[in-house]
Amino acid sequence: MTTSGRHFLQIPGPSNVPDSVLHAISMPTIDHRGPDFKELFTHCLTGMAEVFGTSNQVVIYPATGTGGWEAALVNTLSPGDEILCYETGHFSSLWKAMAEKWGLRPTMIAGDWRTGADPEKIREALAADTDHSFKAVCVVHNETSTGVTSRIPEIRAAIDEAAHPALLMVDTISSLGSVDYRHDEWKVDVTVSGSQKGLMLPPGLSFNAISDKALAAHETSTLPKSVWNWTEMLAAGRNGMTPYTPSTNILYGLKESLRLLNEEGLDAVFARHIRFGQATRAAVEAWGLEVLCTNENEHSPVLTAVIMPERHDADALRALILEKFNMSLGAGLSKLQGTVFRIGHLGDLSDLTLAGTLAGVQMGLQLAGVPIRTGGVDAALEILKGT
Ligand code: PLP
Repeated sequence: MTTSGRHFLQIPGPSNVPDSVLHAISMPTIDHRGPDFKELFTHCLTGMAEVFGTSNQVVIYPATGTGGWEAALVNTLSPGDEILCYETGHFSSLWKAMAEKWGLRPTMIAGDWRTGADPEKIREALAADTDHSFKAVCVVHNETSTGVTSRIPEIRAAIDEAAHPALLMVDTISSLGSVDYRHDEWKVDVTVSGSQKGLMLPPGLSFNAISDKALAAHETSTLPKSVWNWTEMLAAGRNGMTPYTPSTNILYGLKESLRLLNEEGLDAVFARHIRFGQATRAAVEAWGLEVLCTNENEHSPVLTAVIMPERHDADALRALILEKFNMSLGAGLSKLQGTVFRIGHLGDLSDLTLAGTLAGVQMGLQLAGVPIRTGGVDAALEILKGT
């Protein structure tokens, strides 16, 4: 194993944490009931609302994204409620499974794990639901298992066209801070996110952005809620406080990552990720390999899932690349295990880091005896240097 130089963490999250964020996190922990914390937490709440694109107060939990999923469900729904889910991949399936565990009744629109949630299929399902049994529509914005980004504004339009009152809940765990997202403008009711991807933080924070309509649903929702209870989180948050001990040090990091995102400018951050996606796909195409996402409109700017040619194992390739080049790539998840590997290109990433990443993948493919054409890295460099 190469040990000189930095490890290349090119999985699609947790992403690399910038040095200035790590330094911020290493500050001494403070009294979370004191004035300094109040200032810090208020700053984080305001900054996160801007990133979500909402004028409402957001909620920050000391939990990973999975906690944010659960918070979205238990705060708005009641036992036995029907919800409509869309199968985009591994993560949409896990969210649906969680809903079942809570005694909700999800209907899953089947997907092929290569395309995003189809707005037309959602419109049809809602139009057929004339007695408005579905209380929520749950969609994963960026399906991290497949590298496909669903078109949330079109899904919103489909719900409106069907004149259906269901809440729209969106998982932006791997897109927020990397891909354009607008909670208020797109009329999303609950947006769930996490700290360890576009926000360039370690795992450990999750978020809910909440519409007025979701707040109204919260008033009548009867699923049990304690740790996740919005009423308590929002009331404490108004005073810059939390109802229980927060992840103080990760919040220091959040303040710094918000500063970094604002310094670059969110639009520039989004454009950078789009370019990284284009460069990576150019490399994959030049190698003669296939990208998992089949819809030109839905390629993820955050990661690229690559299909291994038959009789070659993606996990063996990843192990070889880790061993030879000290780089971690994302595994294929559940039914994609062994047949797909994922290149993360999100967060604290420069053109040269991506070039190095793709060089490592190209060398790894060659060493593993995978039949590829050379020139993938050059194709990516053309895109990186062109803009
Ligand atoms: N949803 C998506 C799209 C994800 O990528 C992940 C994690 O990678 C999750 C949900 C689960 O979040 P966590 O692992 O932070 O609990």
